[in-house]
Amino acid sequence: MSDDKHRRCPVCGDPLDKVRIVKNVCDVCGKEFSSEDVCRKGHKVCPECRASMTVDTIDRICTSTKSRNPYEILVEIISEPPMRMHDVRHHMAVGSALLAAYRNSGGAADFDNALKEIQKRGGSAPPGACGFIGNCGAAVSTGAFYSVVTEASPYSKGPQWGDPNLLTGKCLIAMSEVGGPRCCKRNSFIAMGIAVEQVKEKLGIAMEYPEKIECGFSDRNEECIEERCPFYVKK
Ligand SMILES: [Zn+2]
Ligand SMILES: [Zn+2]
Repeated sequence: MSDDKHRRCPVCGDPLDKVRIVKNVCDVCGKEFSSEDVCRKGHKVCPECRASMTVDTIDRICTSTKSRNPYEILVEIISEPPMRMHDVRHHMAVGSALLAAYRNSGGAADFDNALKEIQKRGGSAPPGACGFIGNCGAAVSTGAFYSVVTEASPYSKGPQWGDPNLLTGKCLIAMSEVGGPRCCKRNSFIAMGIAVEQVKEKLGIAMEYPEKIECGFSDRNEECIEERCPFYVKK
């Protein structure tokens, strides 16, 4: 099972060609690595360097954006070449985009530290967390965001402890009602919408969120559930 029907080069964004497994030397770090797809323009990037390019993309966009709309910020991140269609880095990106939109909507946060902390905590959700431990990483990422901005901890009392759990719980229920298989885009969009609602209701910070989302990623998703997905648009 491939990750992405149209895997793209993290440098130029061109689709990668499938080949028999080949040994490459990474253009970035010089390490030898094997891969089964190659960029037609000859870019060779190892998985570790792709991962750090993805995190750099998240940091760059979230630090500089003026948007109050976490969906818009996330789409900017996931449209950049390094992020794969299904990628564990969504577990960092969802919370990071929420933090940026929260800051731009007047929410107070020690931004740089909060961003690092959200990425560390969200990034602790393993690949395939949805299917393997019943805890989608996009939901975890909203919980990390919420916990960081409300300074919750395992010792917090009452709703300060309860609300991050409430948020991840609501996200997981909404995702479960749609059903599988996995889609990092669908679950990120669901989770963010629920986070935006809870932040407005409980923290009084009004971020923006589109009333209707039309997914632009379905043609890259081998497992797209199409009409069953709330964001699918038939082309
Ligand atoms: Zn390339
Ligand atoms: Zn490398």
